[in-house]
Amino acid sequence: MKTDVLIIGGGVIGASVAHQLAKYNLDIILVEKANDICMGTSKANSAMIHSGFNIDGGTLKGQLVLKANKVIKQLCQDLNVGLVKPLGSITVGFEEKDLEKMKKTMENGIKNGIQGMKLLNQKELHEMEPHLNPDSKYGLFEPETGIINPFEYTVALAENAVINGVKVLLDTEVLDIMIENKTVKGVKTNKGDIETKVIINAAGLYADKIAAMVENIDFEIKPRKGQYFLYDKKWRDILTYTIYSAPTKVSKGMIVVPTIDGNILAGSNAEAVDDKTDLKTTTQALDQIYTSTISHLFPELPRMGDVITTFTGLRASSTNEDFIIEPAKTVKGFINVAGIQSPGLTSAPAIAEMVEGLVREQNMNLDFSAKVNYQKGRKPPIMLKDLSYQERTALIEENPDYGEIVCRCESISKGEIIDAVHRPIPATNLDAVKRRVRAGMGRCQGGFCGPKVVAILSQELVISPLEVTQKGNKSFVLTAKNKELSLDEGDRNYEKISV
Ligand SMILES: Cc1cc2nc3c(=O)[nH]c(=O)nc-3n(C[C@H](O)[C@H](O)[C@H](O)COP(=O)(O)OP(=O)(O)OC[C@H]3O[C@@H](n4cnc5c(N)ncnc54)[C@H](O)[C@@H]3O)c2cc1C
Repeated sequence: MKTDVLIIGGGVIGASVAHQLAKYNLDIILVEKANDICMGTSKANSAMIHSGFNIDGGTLKGQLVLKANKVIKQLCQDLNVGLVKPLGSITVGFEEKDLEKMKKTMENGIKNGIQGMKLLNQKELHEMEPHLNPDSKYGLFEPETGIINPFEYTVALAENAVINGVKVLLDTEVLDIMIENKTVKGVKTNKGDIETKVIINAAGLYADKIAAMVENIDFEIKPRKGQYFLYDKKWRDILTYTIYSAPTKVSKGMIVVPTIDGNILAGSNAEAVDDKTDLKTTTQALDQIYTSTISHLFPELPRMGDVITTFTGLRASSTNEDFIIEPAKTVKGFINVAGIQSPGLTSAPAIAEMVEGLVREQNMNLDFSAKVNYQKGRKPPIMLKDLSYQERTALIEENPDYGEIVCRCESISKGEIIDAVHRPIPATNLDAVKRRVRAGMGRCQGGFCGPKVVAILSQELVISPLEVTQKGNKSFVLTAKNKELSLDEGDRNYEKISV
């Protein structure tokens, strides 16, 4: 196989670069080692569109987040992606020293061009957020922060790229880089070799490993773990804004935020770990987050009960704590997009634009003429929740699958799940369906709808239910057919197909 540009990694950065370059007459392949797009850090984060009020505007990530804020609204509109911006944030303090930090943060925000920031006294603070701990005394309001659904956003970018001709190869892991005469020649993958003129390394936590296949590197990607609580939608009205606890040396402060789908998300701590696959949550860390932040800010939020899930995200922090977006020093045609920790989700469009500039500078004889039939957007998926009663009725009359509710927690119909299986990047397992349409995202976390989604996937993909997986690879959901097999056969089959 041959291409002009090969992108390694199907997170928000790889997808944004694919979306950006798809405007031109270039052959582009994106390879992702997982079974779906958005399976790395891009799926587990705070889902905030940072305004940049609390970031050092002199860093690369500071410059890019401020730039991205100018374009992200239009981009989401073009792609039919939900975005709530402005929502605004309040940093909350309890002590005099917090107020001092807030004054500095406000100065920084003003320097970064954020307008409308305001220090709040105790009365103003509690008028704006009445459920806050009554002992909280100081607030810093900032109007520009937003929220987004990171899966919807990443999938939409990748779908638009596919519509415009980009090939997305899933389950395809880059194992080595081929170089000839100090110039990139291609990649070796578990599915065979791909020749290419340019490689974009957007491999997230593994970007250092990929970069080191090309030359000696002077950076390392260290995972930094952040754990979260996700609350049931019944707590949605406890807050209006994104709430930060006062910042510390290593963190912008922990957060309690509404999600775009109406839950409350709270976390996250920052814990350096060695293992890039360590996505475990721990009781110790969750207890600490709950005590130090969640219950401290909102005493009504419970430790358990309405917590519908907990999860971990891994920040890809680089040795110098800034984004590393630059060509390889000794090999032509290779570009690193590494160390993309927060605010990477927000900065993605500006990162993609910068990468385009670097690709052009490589002078690899690429055709940067504009695609004549380029499509700016994508057909949005049908979402019953967004339709009026009349629109739903008409839709169900036309196709009764939209009238069969499969996920009762989130009110997702069979028709919406079938659509997800047939999108430009198909959802082929339970988690992929969950990320596309929210079936299994609700209070029961798939306990009730899981078996029905298995049946739909089996039918639409024309595979046995035994072959349906939770998240690709060998994560089979069912282990054997009961009733049809003797126990012995069942046991043998279990060994053969279980995870
Ligand atoms: C706790 C936490 C909170 C955050 N909160 C926010 C926030 O509120 N707002 C914000 O703007 N940012 C936030 N971020 C940052 C943001 O999530 C990341 O910057 C962004 O998701 C990084 O995207 P990525 O594409 O670089 O990485 P990833 O999403 O990890 O994608 C990299 C992809 O590369 C693939 N890959 C790796 N090696 C190979 C290989 N050899 N072959 C093929 N594929 C490979 C991986 O499978 C993965 O899918 C947060 C991050 C964390 C961890």
